[in-house]
Amino acid sequence: MVKSLELETIQLTEKTEELRQEIRQFLKNEIEEGAFLPHCDSWLSRWDSEFSGKLGQRGWLGMTWPKKYGGHERSALERYVVTEELLAFGAPVAAHWFADRQTGPLFLRYGTEKQRNEFLPRIAQGEIFFSIGLSEPNSGSDLASISTNAKKVAGGWRLNGSKVWTSGAHHSHFMVTLCRTSTKTENRHEGLSQLVVDLSASGVTVRPIKLMTGEHHFNEVFFEDVFVPDDMVVGTIGDGWKQSMAELAYERSGPERFLSTFPLFVELIRVLKQKESNEHVKITIGKLAARLTTLREMSLGVASLLEKGVSPDVTAALVKDLGTKFEFQIAEAARELVASQTHVSNVRFKSLLAEALLHAPGFTLRGGTTEILRGIIARGVGIR
Ligand SMILES: Cc1cc2nc3c(=O)[nH]c(=O)nc-3n(C[C@H](O)[C@H](O)[C@H](O)COP(=O)(O)OP(=O)(O)OC[C@H]3O[C@@H](n4cnc5c(N)ncnc54)[C@H](O)[C@@H]3O)c2cc1C
Repeated sequence: MVKSLELETIQLTEKTEELRQEIRQFLKNEIEEGAFLPHCDSWLSRWDSEFSGKLGQRGWLGMTWPKKYGGHERSALERYVVTEELLAFGAPVAAHWFADRQTGPLFLRYGTEKQRNEFLPRIAQGEIFFSIGLSEPNSGSDLASISTNAKKVAGGWRLNGSKVWTSGAHHSHFMVTLCRTSTKTENRHEGLSQLVVDLSASGVTVRPIKLMTGEHHFNEVFFEDVFVPDDMVVGTIGDGWKQSMAELAYERSGPERFLSTFPLFVELIRVLKQKESNEHVKITIGKLAARLTTLREMSLGVASLLEKGVSPDVTAALVKDLGTKFEFQIAEAARELVASQTHVSNVRFKSLLAEALLHAPGFTLRGGTTEILRGIIARGVGIR
């Protein structure tokens, strides 16, 4: 029996629901005050350091971390409710997303006391932001083939190579960089390490790669003899593969893997309510709502597994595969039910639909492609 597939139904407590009302009210006020407009894919493409700072001040970043590192010692389910509301409202959360989701937990699990004290309180305040440096021009799905390398020098490491598709590197302060620290052996997973690279260091160049919408979201990052001090090594030299895989469990399992187009779903229903409905519309919306409910139950189950210290690799892969498909189904339904009718004048609806459709090709690629995830699921259920 595969442990991580054993999901239980999660009941959210009254305290958690109170927290939901609190964040909901905050988000409604922010929208009313013009602080932001809801967007699709806001967790990846809407960068607003000021907004992240406001969340930090209210205790909604680093929620589960120990208080001694600036955290709030709240449960994974409380954190889940906050992230769920932020995504449902399409709030601009990209600045802190990676640091709060995975870099903080990485430091808690593998970091030194110095790293925890230095980074965690500032992440929890929404003051410093991190990027993820995994993919390279010739290494995506086959991550173990990376060739960015670091050589030992006095007091640290000399880093050379490049990363690609690095979300937010043009705004971030640091990047957790997976690199090779000893020559490749037969076991390609050996000899990899994680270094925290200061993106303002000499020898680092960040170049934009534009999305097809014209937005600047991700980048190429080049390292030319970048010096990384010893105290910026995360965990153990040579253990980078194991550490990065542990990080991926956080990366794949959250509600952002099925809520990227939720703001469009809300707007779609608003538009449909103003028109006369028919059976086809009702069935389409009903099916989407049913899928959403199921995905949410599964994703909550994953959050609860994480809280218990179980690594939910297989279930997280399943949620991401089904979830990213669902995100696209919302855009498809919006196009079919409303956008094909030429008289639609709702500007918000049109703009959210365009955003969802143009961002959609990335949904099934980022964080591991569908084919790779299905391989993980197949292995997990014993058929591969
Ligand atoms: C919006 C977005 C943001 C991103 N942000 C980041 C980031 O911040 N940091 C970062 O490091 N990376 C980031 N990425 C990169 C992402 O992780 C990679 O795109 C992804 O891992 C796939 O790698 P690749 O693009 O090299 O494609 P490839 O690995 O070359 O895959 C191409 C195709 O071949 C298929 N394929 C490959 N291997 C197999 C196999 N063994 N079996 C079956 N099919 C296979 C894939 O499924 C895919 O369809 C981002 C990507 C996107 C789209």
